Amino acid sequence: MRRNIEVVSFDVDGTLVSMDFNNMIWMEELPALIGRKKGMSLEEARAYTISEYEKVGENDMRWYEMNHWIRHFDLDTTFEVILSKYASKVEIFPDVIPTLERLKSKYILILTTAMPREFLNVKIREFKGFFKFDFSVISDFKLLKTPESYLKICNILNILPSRLIHIGDHWGFDYIAPKEAGANAIFLDREKKRAGDSVIHNLEELEL
Ligand SMILES: [Mg+2]
Repeated sequence: MRRNIEVVSFDVDGTLVSMDFNNMIWMEELPALIGRKKGMSLEEARAYTISEYEKVGENDMRWYEMNHWIRHFDLDTTFEVILSKYASKVEIFPDVIPTLERLKSKYILILTTAMPREFLNVKIREFKGFFKFDFSVISDFKLLKTPESYLKICNILNILPSRLIHIGDHWGFDYIAPKEAGANAIFLDREKKRAGDSVIHNLEELEL
């Protein structure tokens, strides 16, 4: 157990649940709907969709908001319809539940994500009970995962940033941003591209 740490924060996508769910929605479902609407092949529609996503990019909040894209592409569907179609496809990484079981009595566990809350609820259904709080920084603060987001979370929890450790799979949003806020961070690199003191390759390597 690490002294000083009271709160362990986890990212969700790519950290606790596989990205396959996102890929099915963003790379399969939306391009299929767009292709049907515009009379494009799936391949053409996918290339077009990706080029539209890239014009916005992950540093813009619109990137994460399904309703933005449904409007942008003028699709005849709703967020709820798409989510309910894919809800059963959420896949939890096998190291998640054992890790949460091990940590739950020692720390306050929270979730910190940049995905809108509607998405979050579908993804965390099976392990929500482990977490005392879940923060969707987009829905709750109208922010991405910036140092300010992490500071706001510490304020809400009434802890110093040094009492929080965040674990996630995005170098900028999950490692650099919490460090800049004065919190601790561990980079989860499931693809094993990086190594170092604050890098782990699966959650069972967490020394907490
Ligand atoms: Mg992630």
